[in-house]
Amino acid sequence: MNEDLAVRLNKREYTNWLKAGQCLYILKDAILPFIDEQMRAFHGGLLREKPRLREHCQNSCHPRNIELSQACRLCLEWKSEILKHHIQRHSTLYWGNCTPSSWRNDHWEVAKAYMPRGQVHVTAEMCDPSALLNLINYCDWFASVNVKATYVRELIKCRNELMHSGNLGVTDQWMKNFKVAMKRFLQMFSHVPCMTPAEEKINQMLAVDLLIFATGLHAEDSPDMGALVSDSVSKPDISLDLISQWEADLLQERLRELRHTAEEPTMDTEQLKMLDGFLQENKDLSERFCAELQAIGSLAGLQLEELKS
Ligand SMILES: [Zn+2]
Repeated sequence: MNEDLAVRLNKREYTNWLKAGQCLYILKDAILPFIDEQMRAFHGGLLREKPRLREHCQNSCHPRNIELSQACRLCLEWKSEILKHHIQRHSTLYWGNCTPSSWRNDHWEVAKAYMPRGQVHVTAEMCDPSALLNLINYCDWFASVNVKATYVRELIKCRNELMHSGNLGVTDQWMKNFKVAMKRFLQMFSHVPCMTPAEEKINQMLAVDLLIFATGLHAEDSPDMGALVSDSVSKPDISLDLISQWEADLLQERLRELRHTAEEPTMDTEQLKMLDGFLQENKDLSERFCAELQAIGSLAGLQLEELKS
């Protein structure tokens, strides 16, 4: 039994944080095949409309050339097409996500232009919920398949609040709002085959009491779980090892985001310090993630001493 994990699971706000994070991953996994298919259709449409976009880039144009509009004629044409289908045409896109010479034959390289930074070596299978939600929000293709931008943005807001919460915790009231945002989002995609089982899984996740897995109490002995089991087709298959994996996935996502912002001069180092504080209190997680956090700290110009245990 991991004592540190048991202590964490005793904190309501922390288990809320973990469960909401996990719901976003369930959603991402379920919706990814549909989004991938939609991006393939979007890409195919661009090529049909402008067959010239199929031509090879002869200069191996770098994302930096795209940013400065100093790329080859073909890549600049791709740039203008991508911008044309961005809901805010004058926004700054993270061209560094993309390999421009692959735009002609890889729909996901085009999709990555609509995502937050940090996607350079990320395939569709590897992308996180934030990447996918931002793609759905910013690429105007999704408006044509009846996606309501306000509902997408609501869920993005929840995701950002969750991931930026300094103490890695959210209140029960926050969870209520999250549940509404999630429900609205799911309803927009109710025609997608994988979404019905995903919705069931998400509802189970929101209802489950993770503490019972730490106390060793048998799931059926818990009144909460008993009600859950009778209300749903199957009970969630959860173990402490799995919960531990969820924590690691969410912390990795948080660290990835911090690493990208650490490269900016305007980084708010408070977020780093708060995460460091959390890791100091949780030795099991600290052993796994402290080195990475220290590396990010030095990138951001924070003294390493501040981050040492
Ligand atoms: Zn080029």
